[in-house]
Amino acid sequence: MLRHVFGHPDFRGLQAQVIGEVLAGRSAMAVLPTGGGKSMCYQIPSIVRPGLGLVVSPLIALMADQVEGLKQSGVAAERLDSNTDMDQRQEIWRRIDAGELDLLYLSPEGLAQPAMLNRLSRTPLALIAIDEAHCVSQWGHDFRPEYRMLGRLADIFPDVPRLAVTATADARTREDIRTELRLEGAAEFVDSFARPELALTAERKRGAGHGRVEELVLARPGRSGVVYAGSREGTDKLAERLKAAGVPALAYHAGLDKTLRADRLEQFLEADEAVMVATIAFGMGVDKPDVRFVIHADPPASIEAYWQEIGRAGRDGQPAEGITLYGSADMAWAFRRIEGREVGDEVRTVQMRKVRQLYNMLDGVACRAAAVRRYFGEEGVARCGVCDNCVSPPKAIDATVSAQKALAAVHRLGGRFGRGRLVDHLLGKTKDAGPQETGLSTWGIGAEYSAAGWRDLIDQLLFEGLLREDPNDGRPLIGLGDADGVKGVYRGERQVSVRQPPEATGDAG
Ligand code: ADP
Ligand code: ZN
Repeated sequence: MLRHVFGHPDFRGLQAQVIGEVLAGRSAMAVLPTGGGKSMCYQIPSIVRPGLGLVVSPLIALMADQVEGLKQSGVAAERLDSNTDMDQRQEIWRRIDAGELDLLYLSPEGLAQPAMLNRLSRTPLALIAIDEAHCVSQWGHDFRPEYRMLGRLADIFPDVPRLAVTATADARTREDIRTELRLEGAAEFVDSFARPELALTAERKRGAGHGRVEELVLARPGRSGVVYAGSREGTDKLAERLKAAGVPALAYHAGLDKTLRADRLEQFLEADEAVMVATIAFGMGVDKPDVRFVIHADPPASIEAYWQEIGRAGRDGQPAEGITLYGSADMAWAFRRIEGREVGDEVRTVQMRKVRQLYNMLDGVACRAAAVRRYFGEEGVARCGVCDNCVSPPKAIDATVSAQKALAAVHRLGGRFGRGRLVDHLLGKTKDAGPQETGLSTWGIGAEYSAAGWRDLIDQLLFEGLLREDPNDGRPLIGLGDADGVKGVYRGERQVSVRQPPEATGDAG
């Protein structure tokens, strides 16, 4: 099927395994990197298994694109959305009833309609695929409330295998997907997130950083690139500035007229050297293979968003760059925005942590690609050798002794506590600490840093995989991470370095 229908010589990564699981009639969850070929994982089983394959997808544009591609490959695929007129609908249902259709794409809202569910419950189904499954998680960066109802599919279609696919899921988001989509017991496939063709850099910016962006773009003439800006206004200004400097720049954001956006997208996709200056409205489903650089004029919202946005460069496997400009003002702004959101305390805490982790990575001295991959739960990750921190390791301040203290404290406390209690312990400030705690050798040994300083160092340790955090029903517990790494730090063989002394970053909250 892969060769004859889709014309690809071999499966990629974990595709074959995921497809095998679904073909055997079992539900599964697949976390494959952007460009990893997620759609094949449900398209092939939909064609091979008897019955109709349902695909739930959040974006009409994405669905349209996939359905078009499938039709061109001769696959019987259709989509039902708010734009489908009565006649088309009738024809689609006729083909479904006749068993002629292999794939049907739906939005989560479309699927949730009682009439739709009713009709589908009388239709033999091959599988139900839930694309961009991270949208179901409030811990993720792209929560969509309408995804929540998809958990009910487990009851409505108990015998139909369900496949959740996404490109972005840390351990916590994965757990959420599992719970919310009722995939308890389903096999989980997590592919490597390595993108060896990407050279990552990050630098602190002064002011808005537009001058620096101009420099960076001018230094890369004749190439195709994307510049992400945090606001529509910033996008327009940057595009103007680049155009004035002779760069074929195009602005793209949700405030622009629909046809103008479509025009610019097309121009960009066809050009060899256009630079798209865009907000994140530009992205999902954009598949231009020869994007040579992605520059963040303003930082992304999280590491997930970072990897997804940077990941749009180098899709053809040729060398490409991801360059991020960041500043403390951006971080403060990110925190303020989260504070202003109407979400529960727990969700807020997690979102704040995601911001901290992003900035720890951006401002950190560790290999950037390795840091990101560890964040996604990969183990045994080697340095990339091409990021700025690998190529010219920054002058770092050694924090190994403090790291040893923190790791020892976690060890002594037996991984039973969360971050707040751990910091209190290090500072010797735990309220109602019993003699078993005050008697430990690690009690109060952390006078060198403030509480905020310790929180930052703990974040960094989490980030480097030396500590790990277990969700524990929303009350995260901190335990020791990668055993070899921890041993290395204890023995002084592995250094823990920070770019700034931890106290100085304590104002970030
Ligand atoms: P994503 O995981 O980002 O959703 P897609 O499913 O859109 O990725 O696939 C990305 C690209 O990779 C598509 O152009 C697709 O045709 C191609 N592709 C998928 N599987 C294979 C394969 N086994 N071999 C070669 N190309 C593949
Ligand atoms: Zn590196």
